[in-house]
Amino acid sequence: MEDYGANFKQGILFNIFTTYDSLLVVYCIVTLTIKYRKFIGEEKRQIKYILYGIGIFLIMNAIFNWIVPIVLTKSFVYGRFGTYSAILLVGFIAYAILKTKLFNLKIILTESAVVIIDVILAVQIFTSHSAMESLLRALFAVFVFYGSYILVQSVRREIKFREELQVMAQQLAHANSHLRELDQMKTEFVSLASHELLTPVSAIEGYLSMLLDEHMAKIEDPKAQKYLTNVYNSAKRLARLIADMLNISRIEEGRLLVEKKDIDLSELIKQVVDEIKFKSDEKKQKIVFETPDSWKSYGDPDKVKEVIINLIGNSIKYSKDPGTINISIEKIPTEWVKEKWQKIEEDIKQRPLDDQEAIHSAVDEHFRNFVGNQQLMISVKDEGIGIPKEELPRLFKKFHRVGDYTTAESQGTGLGLYISRALVELHHGRIWAGSEGPGKGSTFTFTLPDISDKEALLKMEAQAPKKESLKPLARPTKAAEDI
Ligand code: ADP
Repeated sequence: MEDYGANFKQGILFNIFTTYDSLLVVYCIVTLTIKYRKFIGEEKRQIKYILYGIGIFLIMNAIFNWIVPIVLTKSFVYGRFGTYSAILLVGFIAYAILKTKLFNLKIILTESAVVIIDVILAVQIFTSHSAMESLLRALFAVFVFYGSYILVQSVRREIKFREELQVMAQQLAHANSHLRELDQMKTEFVSLASHELLTPVSAIEGYLSMLLDEHMAKIEDPKAQKYLTNVYNSAKRLARLIADMLNISRIEEGRLLVEKKDIDLSELIKQVVDEIKFKSDEKKQKIVFETPDSWKSYGDPDKVKEVIINLIGNSIKYSKDPGTINISIEKIPTEWVKEKWQKIEEDIKQRPLDDQEAIHSAVDEHFRNFVGNQQLMISVKDEGIGIPKEELPRLFKKFHRVGDYTTAESQGTGLGLYISRALVELHHGRIWAGSEGPGKGSTFTFTLPDISDKEALLKMEAQAPKKESLKPLARPTKAAEDI
C-alpha cells in the first residue's frame, strides 16, 4: 500500500476521460500556439507566459506520473509532485495577469469577492433554524445578489471604458506623430517652393521697376502707367511674402545664419528712423527718439534692424490720424523680464487651445535662455488704432491679423511679428505687446541682453546647437516701401 493518494479502481469510463482530458490539453496548446504566432505585443507576451506554465506542468507530470512510476521506480509515491506543479501553472497565469493585465485584475477580484459573499449567503439560507429566518436570509441574499450584479456590471463598464480610452490615446499618439511628419514635410515644401518662386518674382519686380523709371523707359499712356504701377506694387508684395515664408522655414529648421557682434542699438534705431522718415511723413506721424547714451548689445545687426523696422513700420501702418511714435530704450534687471514673461505665459495657458499656440516658439530652446543680470528694453509706442486686449498674445502667431475692422485698409501678411519674435528670441530676448484697447494706441516692447554681460553671452553662444548649411535672411532687412 502506498503512503500517498487514494486507492482507486479504474472504471470503464477512465480511458474515455483520459482521452478527453488529453485531447483538451492538445487543443489548448494548439489554439494558444496559433494565437501566439498571430498576435503581437502584449497579447503575445500573455500567451507566452501561459505556454511556459503549461509546458512546465506537462513536463513535471510526465516525469512524476509516467517516467518515475512506470519506467523507473514502479511506484506512484512521487506522483504528487506532478500534481503540485499545477502551482507553477497558476503562478505563470498569475504573473501574466499582473504583468500584462491578461484578465483585468479588478474584475477578477470583484467577481471573486462577490461570488464568495453570495455563496456564503446562499449556504446560510439552508442552515437557518426556522422558516422565518430562512425567508429573511433569502430576501437579504436576493438583495445582495442584485447589488453584486450591479457592482460587477459597473466594474466591467469602467474597465471597458478604460480600454477604449487606452485605444483612443494610442490612436491620438499615432495621429500626432503623423501630423509632426506632415508638418516637417510642409516646412520642407514651403522652403523649396519659396526658394524657386523668389527668383522669377524678383526678376519681374526688377524689370517693372526699370519700366517705370523715366530714365530707362517711356510709357506714354497714363492708363498703362497706372496699371503697371499696380502690377509693380503687387509684385513687390508677392516677393515680400515669399521672402517671409522662406525666412520662416529657415528659422523653423534652425538654418538661419545669425552673425553676432557688438551692436549700438541707438545707432541702429536712428538709421531705421532716417530710412523710414518719408513713410512716417506721408502718414503724418512724428517719430521721437531721443537718447543721449549709446546702448550696446551683442547681436546680428541685420536681424535686430529687421525687428525695429517691423515695429516702427507697424506703428506707422496702423495709425490713421496724425500722431507721435515714441521710441525709448532703458536698462532693466533680467529678473523683471523673467517675471513679466512668466505672467504672459500663464495668461496664455488659461486661454483656448488655439491661442496657446502663441506659447510655442519657432526657435531652439537654447536661445530662449536669459543671459546676464541686465537687459536692454526697447519700446515703440504709437497713438494708432490700438489693439483689443484679448488679441495681444495672438499677434505673434503665424499669419495672425486683427479683425477686419482695423486692418482692412492696410496690406499685410500677419508674418512680420512672428518673424520678429523669432529673431528677438534668437538673441535671448523677449517681445510683447500692450494696448489700452481699440483707438488708444499700442506699445510694442522687446528686450536684448546688455553688453555688460558679454562674457556670459559668449559662453552661451559657444553652446548653441550647430546646424549645417546656414542661410542668411532672404531679402535682408525690410525696405521702407515694403511697409
Ligand atoms: P502684418 O502687419 O503684415 O499684418 P504683423 O505680424 O506685423 O503682420 O502684425 C500682425 C497684426 O498685428 C497686424 O495685422 C495688426 O492687426 C496688428 N498690429 C501690429 N502692430 C500694430 C500696431 N502698432 N497697432 C495696431 N495693431 C498692430
